[in-house]
Amino acid sequence: MKKFEELRFFSKPLLKEANYAAHREKRSKCINPELIENLSLNSIYHVLKFWYHKKNELRLFVEINDKGEFELLDTSITRYESLPIIRYFDNGKYEIDFQKRPYPNGREWQETEIKKPVRKQSKFRKNVLEAYSNCCAVCDINQPSLIRAAHILNVKDGGPDTINNGIALCVNHEIAFDIGILTITTDYKVKTKNDIGVQLQKLKLPKSKNYYPNKEYLKKKNEIITAANNSYK
Ligand SMILES: [Zn+2]
Repeated sequence: MKKFEELRFFSKPLLKEANYAAHREKRSKCINPELIENLSLNSIYHVLKFWYHKKNELRLFVEINDKGEFELLDTSITRYESLPIIRYFDNGKYEIDFQKRPYPNGREWQETEIKKPVRKQSKFRKNVLEAYSNCCAVCDINQPSLIRAAHILNVKDGGPDTINNGIALCVNHEIAFDIGILTITTDYKVKTKNDIGVQLQKLKLPKSKNYYPNKEYLKKKNEIITAANNSYK
């Protein structure tokens, strides 16, 4: 016997799942869910063809009836490759080849296109980390990938991207500083509300006085935190 056609296909549940995923992953072509709801559970829905729509995304032509009518559905290559394959033979027989899914037990997965965010901050970050020798200003962490350049006065509150509006803090302490669990007084004393791994009582300052945190910004920042805390009470 000779194979004359090989196609990937959806069952109704698989089509529903891929369509949900396309919605969730904000792809441009999805199928009207009502249309899928009205499809028979006992049929299979061939992918008639596809094209490489975008990097890592395929646009599928999904056959939705035996008249050859189709709907367009965008999907990731991984999801397409997880679809079962049906091979038709010239004697009227066929075989089905189920594919391994990326996650076991029918677990769903999410795929998104990773778009690199525009790092307007990169120069600020570089300058602040340099001023603080890549070390958190309140603890000993000095692994650059764990160090953030924290704005004292947030950009949305009018804080500039200057070194004196920045402090190098590790990820934990940056969050603590942002929400006011960790505060820095205008004379550079470090105060914490809980034990969050800060042993220092005074901020480690940059070598150059020009880069010291600006006291006005610290004062404003502390006022904003106090006001925010009061509004929760
Ligand atoms: Zn730290």
